Amino acid sequence: MIIAVDGPAGSGKSTVARALATALSLRHIDTGAMYRALALKALRRGLDLEDEGAVVGLLPDTSIELASDRVLLDGEEVTGEIRDRKVTSAASVIAEHPGVRRWMVTNQRRIVKEEPSGAVVEGRDIGTVVLPNADLKVFLTAAHEERVRRRAVETGTTEQEIVEDLISRDDRDTRRSLSPLRAAEDAITLDSTSLSVQQVLQQVLQIIGERSR
Ligand code: C5P
Repeated sequence: MIIAVDGPAGSGKSTVARALATALSLRHIDTGAMYRALALKALRRGLDLEDEGAVVGLLPDTSIELASDRVLLDGEEVTGEIRDRKVTSAASVIAEHPGVRRWMVTNQRRIVKEEPSGAVVEGRDIGTVVLPNADLKVFLTAAHEERVRRRAVETGTTEQEIVEDLISRDDRDTRRSLSPLRAAEDAITLDSTSLSVQQVLQQVLQIIGERSR
């Protein structure tokens, strides 16, 4: 079974996707971590992030592996480093480049194909572009204030910094011309603002149960 979980930052996507994967004994694949890893490489090389040619030029010599919840960039573990504020913002800049997105989509499909029982795949364009035939598509949303609060708890930064980062990232992710963040037509949209992770999880599991009847 393949489940796509899409939504903006702070919508609870990662927590829900991870919990869902555990409940269903499926692999959890975090595609955002792949954009983050490439952004880290571009930052380390001092590249102009807006320069598509320069960023795409990195790809032939780049390997990004997702091993459980560890992220390996060219064999080096970068799991913690890719959560850095600078990397977070850089990820959404390089994610606008069509050449980057093509490479990511190809690699993400390959990773999913290697899983015989399926996977829970989270991102922004999973239900719309990467896996349009997913068995279930969940689009998670949450009110802006709640998303800010969650990010502040998660990252330990001030709410002011979060607001600035979140607004510019949401803006880039939803307005980009290629694969903007949006719910697939056949996605189930869940607003997690006043729901606990357990409650969201129960709702999704209930939908899966009803569909398999
Ligand atoms: O999900 P996460 O916040 O880690 O993603 C980091 C950035 O990577 C997002 O802001 C977005 O620009 C990009 N991304 C994307 N498509 C995906 C996953 C992430 O464009 N499927």
